[in-house]
Amino acid sequence: MSHVFVLSSDGLPLDPCHPARARQLLTQGKAAVWRRYPFTIRLKGRAAAESVVHAHRLKLDPGSKTTGIAVVAEATGRVVFAAELTHRGQAIRDALRTRRAVRRSRRQRKTRYRQPRFRNRRRPEGWLAPSLQHRVDTTCTWVNRLRRLVPVAAISTELVKFDTQLLENAEVSGVEYQQGTLAGYEVREYLLEKCGRRCAYCGAKDTPLQVEHIVPRARGGSDRVSNLTLACEPCNTRKGTQTAEAFGYPDIQAQARRPLKDAAAVNQTRWALYRRLTDTGLPVEVGTGGRTKYNRTRLDLDKTHWHDAACVGASTPDRLDVRGVRPLTITATGHGNRQMAGLNRYGFPIRHRQRVKRHFGFQTGDMVKAVVTKGKYAGVHIGRVAVRARPRFKLNGIDVPAKSCTALHRADGYAYPRSPDATHPTAGLAAH
Ligand SMILES: [Zn+2]
Repeated sequence: MSHVFVLSSDGLPLDPCHPARARQLLTQGKAAVWRRYPFTIRLKGRAAAESVVHAHRLKLDPGSKTTGIAVVAEATGRVVFAAELTHRGQAIRDALRTRRAVRRSRRQRKTRYRQPRFRNRRRPEGWLAPSLQHRVDTTCTWVNRLRRLVPVAAISTELVKFDTQLLENAEVSGVEYQQGTLAGYEVREYLLEKCGRRCAYCGAKDTPLQVEHIVPRARGGSDRVSNLTLACEPCNTRKGTQTAEAFGYPDIQAQARRPLKDAAAVNQTRWALYRRLTDTGLPVEVGTGGRTKYNRTRLDLDKTHWHDAACVGASTPDRLDVRGVRPLTITATGHGNRQMAGLNRYGFPIRHRQRVKRHFGFQTGDMVKAVVTKGKYAGVHIGRVAVRARPRFKLNGIDVPAKSCTALHRADGYAYPRSPDATHPTAGLAAH
């Protein structure tokens, strides 16, 4: 089971507990629900000073679309919480593109020609495109949120795809990669990156690729990385003991000798995230993609974002307890837009934004429970509310009185869709 986060009566994080224990505490009135996503309870008569807390490690696998998050108890290797955070980079890019197009057309309508301005714009050091900056920001938001809910003593994050240091060693003691040691995983990740994840000979994608010697061992080829490439099985078999040149690919031989440019600095977003994480003051361990894959294979886990996160870094314990963990699905939704005039499909302004966002104590996007006592829609409704200035809100496509609503979870820029195959382990608790 994913555990439930516990806060002391003075609001400090304690060790997460089993959902059954949380349910007990809630029914006995010794705790209250503090937050729904992620599910957190706050004890009533117990200060942090009276409790013993254990160190937890927050582990991240930053991805371009989805970032995996896992919280692991250091002493036991128990994964107490997992989440998959889906970013909205594409949505940000689309929104900015639309805005630019609208501005451009407005400014060029009925205006005289002006010369382009002198290029006096400068971007600050370490500037990232908004869609990438958002990735760093949302990940840090969740790191900070989790730090308030669970005693985090250290952070692990995946920084690079492969370790050049280990590659160097692999060049020296070449046979290691064939014996499935860690260096082998680094070599594979390196080659995947270099070949663009396709067969070097026929260009086949999405097929199992084998590490292949450009000059075969039988002809005195070495195990150095510069003599290796990736090939699909048919190509590998057809090539047999020929050199790449004899096989009809002289360019492959030339290309293999060129090292992959800036192999270490693969991803500037990950470096930006790393710098932000070190600002927290916690020790930050960095891992490589090769190490993650090695750990995940060793622990026999499927390829999911949160499994990857749990496997990041050298500190991963030999026994990782992931039984029953259901990752929380987090989707970044943003906080709406700032457009003041709503347009019809011809671009004609038809409505204007109101000055206030909150009505009757609610804001659009708040998750509410509405208990409607009479009328066509009598019953209990739970969902995200769309507020109006008049005391009838829109909820799940129906009209509910504002008075019938109680807030369950305030709009915080994220949605928490349930994965279709599983009910969240805390689903029963959320009803309290
Ligand atoms: Zn091939």
